[in-house]
Amino acid sequence: MPGTRLVARASGKVRRMLASRFERREASTDSVGPIVSFTFDDAPKSAFGVGREILESFGARATYFVSLGLLDKETEVGRIASVDDLARAVAEGCELGCHTFDHLDAWSTSPRDYLESVVRNREALHQVLPGTGFAAFAYPKSGATVWIKPALSKLFACCRGGGQGINAGTIDLNLLNACFIDQWTGVDLEFIRKLVDDNAARRGWLIFATHDVAPTPSPYGCSPKFLEAVARCASETGSLLLPVGEACARLLYAAESGASSHHSVGRS
Ligand SMILES: [Zn+2]
Repeated sequence: MPGTRLVARASGKVRRMLASRFERREASTDSVGPIVSFTFDDAPKSAFGVGREILESFGARATYFVSLGLLDKETEVGRIASVDDLARAVAEGCELGCHTFDHLDAWSTSPRDYLESVVRNREALHQVLPGTGFAAFAYPKSGATVWIKPALSKLFACCRGGGQGINAGTIDLNLLNACFIDQWTGVDLEFIRKLVDDNAARRGWLIFATHDVAPTPSPYGCSPKFLEAVARCASETGSLLLPVGEACARLLYAAESGASSHHSVGRS
């Protein structure tokens, strides 16, 4: 019913507004940016294969937000990675991030169940890859709630949402913006170019996100050609290409040391 849909849309808007305005953990990108990060949610195998190879050709390393409960399963974004895929990615300098064990939606899960799934994901990772931790967190499905942000703030250096925007000036480490380049979003290279240029001009932190990378991707993935074009666009601006955890560590280090120029932080 149209009326029901309108109510649902309005309530979603209020939830997103509350989540973005409150329980913020602020930091500044001014002394470190511009930075561009590439992230893959749910960790489909294709993101570890062709996705990783494309990024590698531009000197970039990915952050994979993993729900360990999905490992080896067939899903709508293709087959999910195995423990070997995770191990190889970590050995090659990529990062793993937490995406809850059960791929839960914070909008329809109690904070207690959600946090239990976060802890379970960490324990599952320790079992299969001892000594490996999660560098950051990404909210599955609908995104963050104002209730879950403060709890995750104690567990992760930063948490990523969506929003199709950049993080510039004073940013919220509890709910970082990302630009999904999934097919369903309809974003094109012109949009990407504007976003990358805006991010460079404002010395911000732009985080790209997608799922599978395949010639015929799912609605939640993108083609190798498109990922390559996005990575080329980002690398041409001379931005630092860093996984999310490393980028966050640089921001926090710069804040602590009061660094005033990104030249003093270095480039990699
Ligand atoms: Zn997901």
